[in-house]
Amino acid sequence: MRVIHEVDELAEALQGTRPVLVPTMGALHAGHLALIRRAHQLSADHEPVVVSIFVNPTQFGRGEDFSRYPRMLDADVQSSESAGAQIAFAPSVESMYPSTTSAAVPKLPAVATQPGLEDAHRPTHFAGVCQVVARLFDLINPKAAIFGEKDYQQLLVVSKMVVQEGDRWPDLQIVAHPTVRERDGLAMSSRNAYLKPEDRRRALGLSQALQAAESAPDPAAAETAMRDILESHQLNIDYAAARDAATLMPIQTYDRPARGLIAARVGAVRLIDNAPLP
Ligand code: AMP
Repeated sequence: MRVIHEVDELAEALQGTRPVLVPTMGALHAGHLALIRRAHQLSADHEPVVVSIFVNPTQFGRGEDFSRYPRMLDADVQSSESAGAQIAFAPSVESMYPSTTSAAVPKLPAVATQPGLEDAHRPTHFAGVCQVVARLFDLINPKAAIFGEKDYQQLLVVSKMVVQEGDRWPDLQIVAHPTVRERDGLAMSSRNAYLKPEDRRRALGLSQALQAAESAPDPAAAETAMRDILESHQLNIDYAAARDAATLMPIQTYDRPARGLIAARVGAVRLIDNAPLP
């Protein structure tokens, strides 16, 4: 396992390869490791699995948890190696964003600005996500990149960005991995480490709300069912929405694939989750 901090060293190590990339912010848990194992399955002999570990400042808003986000590089390197990665790329902010860079900033797709979900509550978030993901794709030229359905809007944003950018990353495949959950249903997240025991119990409201929404007959009823359960767990709701699974725009009926999406706060900890509907 090689740990690389500098862009030049990365370029040298990857020369002539088409790696499989798993972009992360570190503090790796079993959800991340499942993505790395999937990457390992997709990679061929001379195509390394690269895990990027970078807490990207540009995707955090003011007052969010950038400075206290958990950082544990040594443990992350060990666990990503055991899941099948060959290279951990852990750059500094300066090497990711040198002042001399002339990289084209991708245009945000509609799914990053229109739905009124993460885009409304974290208005600068997807510009930061697209910036860092585009930078990683430019540096690494992966043949595939794995993203979790846990961050469902992000997955759609990245997929659309790749299509919009056309030939910038030829033949790059965006691979979706299902959400990995704790035994009791809580979606795994690096931010779960912030939860005190009582908050941990309340956080179960998210997965339970999505489960309840599955049996609702239409999107409006699904949203009511989600809100009821979130409120009974004393969660502060940012949104609890039943949407078109491809555009994330509102729908009246289940005449196409749909998705339930939730963002809610347990005290100061903000959690997200989603699932297919009905
Ligand atoms: P993050 O480190 O939170 O930026 O996540 C890195 C990647 O791991 C993203 O593609 C996430 O969607 C994915 N991911 C995070 N948590 C999970 C989970 N519980 N199940 C599946 N994928 C996940």
